[in-house]
Amino acid sequence: MGYPDKNHAVLNPGRRIFLKAAAGAAATIAMGGFARHGFAEAPAPLKLPPLPYGESALEPLISARTISFHYGKHHKGYLDNLNRLIAGTEMARMSLEKIMSVSAGKPEKVAIFNNAAQTWNHDFYWRSLRPGGGGEPPAVLSKIIKASFGSLDACRKELADAAVTQFGSGWAWLVLDGAKVKVVKTANADNPMTRGLKPLVTIDVWEHAYYLDYQNRRADYVTAVIGKLLNWEFAAGNLAGR
Ligand code: FE
Repeated sequence: MGYPDKNHAVLNPGRRIFLKAAAGAAATIAMGGFARHGFAEAPAPLKLPPLPYGESALEPLISARTISFHYGKHHKGYLDNLNRLIAGTEMARMSLEKIMSVSAGKPEKVAIFNNAAQTWNHDFYWRSLRPGGGGEPPAVLSKIIKASFGSLDACRKELADAAVTQFGSGWAWLVLDGAKVKVVKTANADNPMTRGLKPLVTIDVWEHAYYLDYQNRRADYVTAVIGKLLNWEFAAGNLAGR
């Protein structure tokens, strides 16, 4: 299982992972450069990317308390686990996506894959939301959504249904599959890239994403995210390969 190298630059346009150099100096590796240079030799440990907004920016729909725990404890926890698991191994010098690609589907590396994918998924989730989001996608994305689902409302409904019906922990995604936009859901840490699909936007439906604010009402959280927080510009940027 895996995905071709050429996809990595496409999947994460403009993405930057901040890496702490062994000597202590900060270095920034542009993920989009892999198509030109192959996978970079990246000094460990991987560093937690900053939130794209303040912890209270999504209130009242997602509280600062939720973001504080979700980003500062859960997301950071996955990254810390990953760095601990790969310390001293050849993976310690790989990019996050390379670690995902070489550990996916390998039972002996499941802990590494889970923590790497959860690190990637959370960074993608933060950027899938924005204050004042929701509404209408940019025209280029709206056109392909309408061609794929029949209408924007049908797309929203299918995404909401996937997010609400994912049994247990997981993620709902809009992905590009060839020339069509599709909805998929994944369990636990899994990521559509392992199926050769290109993520456009995601919704975290692990309970830690909403329980402090919505308790058992996952559907209310999903409605708030899709209607008022979803970052369609981020999705359109991924579609365009930026
Ligand atoms: Fe989460």
